[in-house]
Amino acid sequence: MSKPTNIDMQQVWQQDKDHYIHPWTDFSTFKETGSMVLADSDNVHVIDGDGNRYLDGIGGLWCVNIGYGNEEMAEAIAQQIRTIPYYSCFGHHTTVPAAQLAAKLAELAPGNLNHVFYGCGGSVANDTAVRMIHFYFNQLGKKSKKQIISRIDGYHGSTYMAMSITGVKFDHIGFDIEEKMVHHISCPNPYRRPADQSLEDFCDQKVQELEDKILELGPDNVAAFFAEPIMGAGGVIVPPEGYHKRTLDVCRKYGVLYVSDEVVTAFGRLGHMFASEDEFDFVPDIITCAKGLTSGYLPLGATIISDDIYEVISKPQADGAIFTHGFTYSGHPVSCAAGLKNIEIMERIQLCNHVRDMGSYFENQLKTLLDLPIVGDVRGRKFMMCIENVANKETKELIAPEAKVGNRIAEHCQARGLIVRPLAHMNVLSPPLTLTKEHIDFLVATLRESIEVTIEDLR
Ligand code: PLP
Repeated sequence: MSKPTNIDMQQVWQQDKDHYIHPWTDFSTFKETGSMVLADSDNVHVIDGDGNRYLDGIGGLWCVNIGYGNEEMAEAIAQQIRTIPYYSCFGHHTTVPAAQLAAKLAELAPGNLNHVFYGCGGSVANDTAVRMIHFYFNQLGKKSKKQIISRIDGYHGSTYMAMSITGVKFDHIGFDIEEKMVHHISCPNPYRRPADQSLEDFCDQKVQELEDKILELGPDNVAAFFAEPIMGAGGVIVPPEGYHKRTLDVCRKYGVLYVSDEVVTAFGRLGHMFASEDEFDFVPDIITCAKGLTSGYLPLGATIISDDIYEVISKPQADGAIFTHGFTYSGHPVSCAAGLKNIEIMERIQLCNHVRDMGSYFENQLKTLLDLPIVGDVRGRKFMMCIENVANKETKELIAPEAKVGNRIAEHCQARGLIVRPLAHMNVLSPPLTLTKEHIDFLVATLRESIEVTIEDLR
């Protein structure tokens, strides 16, 4: 398939700078520098408008799991467009890929999570979960059960509700959030626990905090607990051993539903199709997912619910009400065809096995950076990793925000052909899952050099 040529990249850069409102952007710097225009891609690499190649250490945005430029995906997408590019799934219509993908997700999801609702991404999958949960409790006559509990530094999306559930306080600056319905408990970040506290005590304390919050709000008022198996945008926080199972037990005790936000962790990033059960040994009531579901080739998100919840929300309504929730593009056939093909490719090339194997090498190689004087923590699992930079490794004191250490490291990496994501004083890595040993060696060596240069900058 031929790719477009003779595009005036300088003009594109200008058009973008003048007219495109970028998501999550610091306009003060954007207005000066504009954007890096990405014009091409190939497996784990992206290529800018001037033809420079970069190893993409962030997989687009934690999502290009099967890698870029997959011709089989392109063909499946084109084929679906030729067949039937769109039909609404409202009421009693469906399309072949929407039905087939729902069945496939039900097969892959843990426990009795057998029913799938589609949206266009992770935020909408979480908003959908809230609406479903409220409808569910209304159906059961438990109309006071509406409150949501989530964690500081959890990230759940950017719609009004998903951002309210998000606990990254920086993301709330300058915006309003829903404060009456959403309550945040603290983040289970083992690196930041008191120096004299054991991991076991730390876990006990965090689990107790959830129970205390439910009791404070009143179990009859609490509907759900939202948590990512590993917090992503909040700094790749892996909770202490047993945390998820035990918080699920607390939820069960008080009739609170557990929503596992697997927008990042599903579809291979941790070496499993879903991480809740296979990596953390618990089966939630609802899983939300997006990103790796299509490897980012097309927008698609899903809210996967248990048989029990489905039974309740699908019961005939005494007062004639129906489940009035859905979007024009719910179950879009082209996105669903991409999802099906993505899973087929992942299964055929055994991508989860590759991640379990190569992801361990990635973790171990990244941990060699701990000998650098500002690298305080290297954490995460498999292809979901984070480097936390600090001023003092003993006290874990932070480097002054004005130093923009995460940005500096990212810029030095980019100058050397590697894209990593700055996250305040941290750098996050979530590469395409097709990464090989050679790519990992390049990535880690480039990071080392970039951190060393940054240390020089900061002197
Ligand atoms: N949930 C998690 C854990 C995420 O990381 C994200 C996005 O990064 C979202 C939800 C929101 O997904 P989207 O940006 O597709 O709406």
